[in-house]
Amino acid sequence: MAMTFACRDVGVDCPYVARGETEEELMVDISKHAKEVHGYTDEQLNDPEMMKKVKAAIKEG
Ligand SMILES: [Zn+2]
Repeated sequence: MAMTFACRDVGVDCPYVARGETEEELMVDISKHAKEVHGYTDEQLNDPEMMKKVKAAIKEG
């Protein structure tokens, strides 16, 4: 079962959608994208509130 994450689902106006087989795989892609495109830092991405927000937006199916 694939998992997806869309930037739009966390309120970002961005067409990016990440797909992966596991949450770990997705988080790697999302972190990379967030840093390259949205200028987030590792500190911001490792923030528990940010993690929660991202994980809550991940959809299975
Ligand atoms: Zn994005």
